[in-house]
Amino acid sequence: MNVAYEWHEVPSADFAVIGDPVAHSRSPQMHQAAYDALRLKYLYVAIRVSAGKLATALDHLCSLGFRGVNITVPHKAEAMAWVAKPDQLSQRIGVVNTINLSDGSATNTDAPGFLDTLEQFGFPQGSSALILGAGGSARSIAAVLPATGFQVSIWNRTPYRAEDLAEEFDLKAIDSPLPNFDLIVNTTSVGLSKERLPIDWTQARPNAVAYDLVYGSTPFLQEAETAGLRTLDGKELLVAQGARSFEFWLGISPPRNVMLEAIQ
Ligand code: NAP
Repeated sequence: MNVAYEWHEVPSADFAVIGDPVAHSRSPQMHQAAYDALRLKYLYVAIRVSAGKLATALDHLCSLGFRGVNITVPHKAEAMAWVAKPDQLSQRIGVVNTINLSDGSATNTDAPGFLDTLEQFGFPQGSSALILGAGGSARSIAAVLPATGFQVSIWNRTPYRAEDLAEEFDLKAIDSPLPNFDLIVNTTSVGLSKERLPIDWTQARPNAVAYDLVYGSTPFLQEAETAGLRTLDGKELLVAQGARSFEFWLGISPPRNVMLEAIQ
C-alpha cells in the first residue's frame, strides 16, 4: 500500500488521484516515474475522499494550487456535476476521470485508453466483443467500442443495468455470459475479491482475447489462459488512460514504457 492522504490533510502538490479506497492505486508511482524521466518537478499524490465530499475536496485542492486530478471509484459520475467544461466525449459517456483544476475542463481517458490497448491485437472489422459488467468502466467501453467496428454484446449480474446500457449505446444485452466472442472484456470488480464469474470456457473461441480491467492475475484470466485464450490484465489500460491524462494536463506525451515499468 502507498501513502494516501485524507483530503483535508493533504500537503500542497501538483496532481493527484482521488478515490475511496485509493491507497492501492499505482497512479502516483506511474506519474512520478514519467515526471522523473522528463525531468519535470511535479508531485503526484493519492487522496482519500469519501462519497458526498467530492465537491468540497476539489474546491480545497484548487485553493492549494493543485493543477489536475484523476478521479476513481466512487466519484467518477459525481465529478461530472463539479466540472465547468466537460468535453464532448465525457458528456456522451456521462463520466469524467480527468480534471484540469486550472480551468475546470475535463475528459474521460478510460475510453480512448481502452481502445489504445486493443491495437496490439489487430482485430479485423466485424469482430465480436462481449462486455461483462455494466458499471462505470463498462459504460466508457460501451460508448466507444461499437464505432471501431466491433459487434458488441453485454452481460451483467443485474440484468436491467446491461439492458439499459444496451439500449443507450445500441448493443445486444445477453442473459448468460457464453464466451463465444473474439474479445471478452471483464469490467466487473470480481477479480478484486478473487470471486469468479459463471463462464463455461469450453464454449470459447481458440484465438480469442480475454481482457480483465483489474491488474494482475485474476481467476477470470487464469481460466481463460487454461482454455488457450490470449489474455491481458488492467496494467496497460492504467498506463494508457494515465498517459492520456498526462497529455490533457501538460500537452506533452509521457514515455508509456517507463510508466508501465513503474507499475510492475
Ligand atoms: P462499478 O461501476 O462499481 O461496476 C462494478 C461491476 O461489477 C457491476 O457491473 C457489478 O454488477 C459487477 N460485479 C461486482 N461484483 C460482482 C460479482 N460478485 N459477480 C458479478 N458481477 C459483479 O466499477 P467500475 O468503475 O466499472 O470498475 C470495475 C473494475 O474495473 C474495478 O475492479 C476497477 O478497479 C477496474 N478498473 C480498472 C482500470 C484500469 O486502469 N486498469 C480502469 C477502470 C476500472 P452489478 O450491476 O450486478 O452490481
